[in-house]
Amino acid sequence: MMKIAFNQATTMKHSTLKKDLELCEKHGYAYIEIRLDKLKDYLKDNTVEDLKSFFDKSRIKPYAFNALEFINFRDEAGCQQILDDLQFLCRIGDVIHCKTIVVVPSFDIGDFTKTQIKEETVKVLHELANLAEPFGVRLALEFCGYPNCSINTFGQAYEIVTEVNRENVGMVLDCFHFHAMNSRINDLQNADPGKIFVFHIDDCEDLPVGALRDHHRVWPGEGAVDLDGILRTLQEIGYQEMVSIELFRPEYWEWDVEKAIKAGKETTEKAVRKFFEVE
Ligand code: ZN
Repeated sequence: MMKIAFNQATTMKHSTLKKDLELCEKHGYAYIEIRLDKLKDYLKDNTVEDLKSFFDKSRIKPYAFNALEFINFRDEAGCQQILDDLQFLCRIGDVIHCKTIVVVPSFDIGDFTKTQIKEETVKVLHELANLAEPFGVRLALEFCGYPNCSINTFGQAYEIVTEVNRENVGMVLDCFHFHAMNSRINDLQNADPGKIFVFHIDDCEDLPVGALRDHHRVWPGEGAVDLDGILRTLQEIGYQEMVSIELFRPEYWEWDVEKAIKAGKETTEKAVRKFFEVE
């Protein structure tokens, strides 16, 4: 049984946490992934208790926070900022019962080998996981399918998460990122489904490897990503937790927010139903 989530990036430009929550509840999403910037905006006029009381009286629940960005190869001030944000999210997550945080690797780090990147990222993930553990919070490493991202394939991210070998450290599988740098379906086939904490669904225009960027994303089923291949493999390895629609398309940001939230649900269900029951 797959539960459908909404990632706030999809309506990033003209919506708010409050609006996304109300419309996602109305359209039957099981979960929301809350963006850190949208949360900070929300808390200017509302309290964490307001957010808790919304979830208490609603069907929709929070699934994850997005995202702690650029966690590896940071200077001292950068590391402190990440730790502060992590602490902030752990405390809020404790109140609203949101226990997963997406963490994103750095870009443009210079000429480090894959071994050096692995050592550095394993070290950082342990530091963050130590802080998150007492809160019962899990960290999900999201590789990004850009040539200049320090971790840009499924296999590379999976190797790092395996090396960390902690219950509260796993990864994000994002179909766009998987496709964009030619991640291997065989690596997914051999993965432990328990290490996939978050599954982002999306599709994209048919550009070559290395040329794809977030703004090329389109609704599931309308692009070049082999979603059937990914979904079939997830079904085969026994993953069945959640699927979150996550686009960053400026064209869709200009849509009426409710229309976009509805389209996200419909296109995701259509893609996923071929292989899974949807709740
Ligand atoms: Zn993603």
